[in-house]
Amino acid sequence: NLPVVAVVGRPNVGKSTLVNRILGRREAVVEDVPGVTRDRVFYEAEWAGRDFWLVDTGGWEEKVEGIAYSVAQQAEVAVELADVVMFVVDANVGITTTDEQMLKVLRRTDHPVVLVANKVDDARGELEAAALWNLGMGEPYPVSALHGRGSGDLLDAVLRVL
Ligand code: GDP
Ligand code: MG
Repeated sequence: NLPVVAVVGRPNVGKSTLVNRILGRREAVVEDVPGVTRDRVFYEAEWAGRDFWLVDTGGWEEKVEGIAYSVAQQAEVAVELADVVMFVVDANVGITTTDEQMLKVLRRTDHPVVLVANKVDDARGELEAAALWNLGMGEPYPVSALHGRGSGDLLDAVLRVL
């Protein structure tokens, strides 16, 4: 009965890429076209000697209509099953209305939420990531799921609240 870390966020922010980065292998399906992740895929992961389930969410991506409702519902399910939620946003794009739908759900939970500012591939992106302090979701962790930048600090932060 391992603790559960769920990775949530709107399509294309890099959830599956982050899952692969954490696993250290390519298992989660990454696509340039949003909408390919199957619903709630569990992977056994390890960091700093601790084992946990890593959940790649995104099944709602298939339902193009009513996306706001689906997003909120997905967040709801993830929050319920997770001990810690990683909320992934694209730091280069900033917060969209779809992100906002998810935030509404995440703000209500008393489960810890770790804010992930993804696609910070170099130091220039740090400023956009820091702007996410304004969300009131705590410290935004700048990472590049693609290149690995910042992922160790992120995982340390997740384990601290796990
Ligand atoms: P998901 O829909 O949230 O699971 O997103 P994916 O993991 O499938 O990634 C969507 C796209 O964003 C793919 O083209 C990835 O290569 C790209 N991507 C993911 N993480 C990063 C990152 O850290 N930096 C950059 N530049 N691209 C990324
Ligand atoms: Mg995905």
